Amino acid sequence: MKDINWNDYSLETQAIRAGHKRTHEDEHSMPIFATSSYVFKSAEEASLRFTGQKPGNIYSRFTNPTVNAFQERLALMEKGERCLAFSSGMAAIMAVGMGLLKAGDHVVCSRSVFGNTVLMFQNYFGKFGVETDFVDLTDAAAWEAAIKPNTRFLFLETPSNPLIEIADIAVLADIAHKHGCLLIVDNVFCTPVLQKPLELGADIVVHSATKYIDGQGRCVGGAVVASDDIIEKHIYPYLRTGGSTMSPFNAWVFLSGLETLAVRMKAHCDRAFELAKWLEQQTGIAKVHYPGLQSHAQHELAKRQQSHFGGVVSFELTGGKEHAWKLIDATQMLSITANLGDVKTTITHPASTTHGRLAPEVRAAAGIKDGLVRVSVGLENIDDIKNDLLRGL
Ligand SMILES: *Cc1c(COP(=O)(O)O)cnc(C)c1O
Repeated sequence: MKDINWNDYSLETQAIRAGHKRTHEDEHSMPIFATSSYVFKSAEEASLRFTGQKPGNIYSRFTNPTVNAFQERLALMEKGERCLAFSSGMAAIMAVGMGLLKAGDHVVCSRSVFGNTVLMFQNYFGKFGVETDFVDLTDAAAWEAAIKPNTRFLFLETPSNPLIEIADIAVLADIAHKHGCLLIVDNVFCTPVLQKPLELGADIVVHSATKYIDGQGRCVGGAVVASDDIIEKHIYPYLRTGGSTMSPFNAWVFLSGLETLAVRMKAHCDRAFELAKWLEQQTGIAKVHYPGLQSHAQHELAKRQQSHFGGVVSFELTGGKEHAWKLIDATQMLSITANLGDVKTTITHPASTTHGRLAPEVRAAAGIKDGLVRVSVGLENIDDIKNDLLRGL
């Protein structure tokens, strides 16, 4: 295969062609390397590979050609130097913490992150002497005020779930660096197609590949993208020892997911924007949360930071929880599930599901009202999606 420098190509092309090193069998599609170990030509060769003096595969807990192809491709798309794949998005976040934190360290985390991310910092890293403070995602002054001398990193998701609030990544990166901290961005909602946090100054990007990267709800997986230095010093040693590895089969599914990611994201965003504008005109809706709308508090920032506004829309019904449940139950086609990023449109009631375990006052402080409904807009015909929602409106 020709030796191509994929950095010279655009994201759409990288997503389709980068990472695959064609074998002596001349295959056109990336093969699944279902092998746990590799054979060395000699005892010396085995020794050189194990000690890192010679590159090459060693053992599939940390080196596998199919997984490597996925890592190379996603690293290019995120404009990062290196990517490591993990068994899930949570495993990727766990790896970042295990690699970077020690007892006595401090973390500042957005209040509006994935529920299990909150639990990871509070319950698990907390158990080992790492303290985490949670702050309002959009309040840059609150982020800076929460930083202590022992703060190791700031962690956020933008846009947030389920209120689709936007943080200014460049501003928060400057704040983090001024205080000697790293900025970590969970880029699940945007994917590199809509937003490249590393270009905006973030140090590490984490992913749940389970969502838009797969795009068809088949596999669970995750990834960490960062500089070669951060990966080599902090993340790779943990993966090699901790073993939360992505399987070659899942990497193969995610590779084909990446191939269609750019066209899917555009289609998700176009439909979500149209749905958001349509929802604003319906009766019984108090507010529509979508960064493409003029009414969104960070509309200008979203326009600047993202290439499109994303595939998730949420809205508040004036009739509270009763009307929200009625609307959800009246749908025929939409999937009632908290998953997102799928070609199938999903609908969920955050206050009683993803955020149902929070105390009511904590939920209220996070702005998650009882009438809130979240829709992850899929790729069905938009009129069918609207009609399904109209049944309960
Ligand atoms: C789903 C999700 C995760 C966790 O990923 P898994 O693959 O389910 O472990 C992390 N962050 C965000 C924003 C998510 O949506």
